[in-house]
Amino acid sequence: MKILVLNAGSSSLKYQLFNMETAEVLAKGLCERIGAGGAVTHKRPNAQPYTEETELADHGVALSRVLSLLCSDQYGVIKSIDEIGAVGHRVAHGGEQLKESSVITESVVKYLETIVPINPLHGPPAIAGIKACLKLMPTLTQVAVFDTSFYSDIEDFRYIYPIPYEFYENDKIRRYGFHGTSHRYVSAELAKILGKPIEELKIITCHLGNGSSITAVDGGKAIDTSMGFTPQEGIAMGTRSGSIDPTVVTYLMKTKGYTANEVEDILNKKSGLLGISGLSNDCRNITEAANAGNKRAELAVKILANGIKKHIGAYAAEMNGLDAVVFTAGIGENQWNIREKVCENMSYLGIEIDFDKNRNFTRGIPFDISKEGAKVATWIIPTDEEYMIAIDTQRLATK
Ligand code: AMP
Repeated sequence: MKILVLNAGSSSLKYQLFNMETAEVLAKGLCERIGAGGAVTHKRPNAQPYTEETELADHGVALSRVLSLLCSDQYGVIKSIDEIGAVGHRVAHGGEQLKESSVITESVVKYLETIVPINPLHGPPAIAGIKACLKLMPTLTQVAVFDTSFYSDIEDFRYIYPIPYEFYENDKIRRYGFHGTSHRYVSAELAKILGKPIEELKIITCHLGNGSSITAVDGGKAIDTSMGFTPQEGIAMGTRSGSIDPTVVTYLMKTKGYTANEVEDILNKKSGLLGISGLSNDCRNITEAANAGNKRAELAVKILANGIKKHIGAYAAEMNGLDAVVFTAGIGENQWNIREKVCENMSYLGIEIDFDKNRNFTRGIPFDISKEGAKVATWIIPTDEEYMIAIDTQRLATK
């Protein structure tokens, strides 16, 4: 079966077409600047990427262009869209009701529309992508895979914030958690690699990218996670502050006259690695500057690594044990300096890495960086959220 996976952002649409028999990516690409010009990059294995500048008025136009490229004589990989067996959509937020990946029906779309207020950035483009697909391929099974659903079993004392309870009851303010598809994928991959039932493992998965989150996975289920009501909570990120004293917000508003939107902008887009260093949100640039002696870049690295370390300690305590730590996403997979800083002086928890292996790791494959005889296994596992979405989509489409 061939599965098309779509990930719609506010002005972008990412796609991947999988052949599920061979777990192969037949083609993938990105539509950018939707609604403000438009550009498409289309890639196939062993072929030069094809790029074009073209007017992409909305997500529907972008999707039409993707489908015609997938079927085109020159750049295509299928003869017609009838070869596509189902479509899987990445949807960031499933709210409290959509607890698992779901076949998209009218009521699913309606529910997604009702939770736009708590998901204002990612909700509208995801809904636009789904609607465009339903219009262009009305007979095809469409599946929504939610970043939040891995956290649907988290216990209330871990998702309720200590603020008046009516804000949860009336306004649905609670921890939801994000990046769930990535944490689910890498924890399942690790169990496979270790050859152990996931039900017997206590794993901490560190998804460290431009956005970062850390999750405690006990027996295959997420029991706690660092992101919360929004992807703003948790450790310092590329441009996001992560958790800070909430009074900083009101203090800034009162003393500087900032509006709510302005403070949100500062905490979302001007903080994190960028805010601390004043240089860049990109961990590669921060590392380079820190190595060259830039004190604020050094500070950014320390703050990031210390935040990860604290979460690992907290989650080992919550799980009452730890079998494995996984590093994934852009920073987790590539930045050995961050992994080293996180894992040094963690032997009391059983985390001991081989510093040589960690520095000389092989990119793009699961890689064991544990020290010989370490109690806790520490691995780098490349994430593959799109493949996980394709697997869920196939399972539901063939049910
Ligand atoms: P992501 O959001 O998962 O794409 O991760 C982006 C972050 O990973 C940025 O801070 C990058 O600096 C960092 N990174 C480091 N090395 C690489 C690499 N080789 N490829 C992609 N991202 C990298």
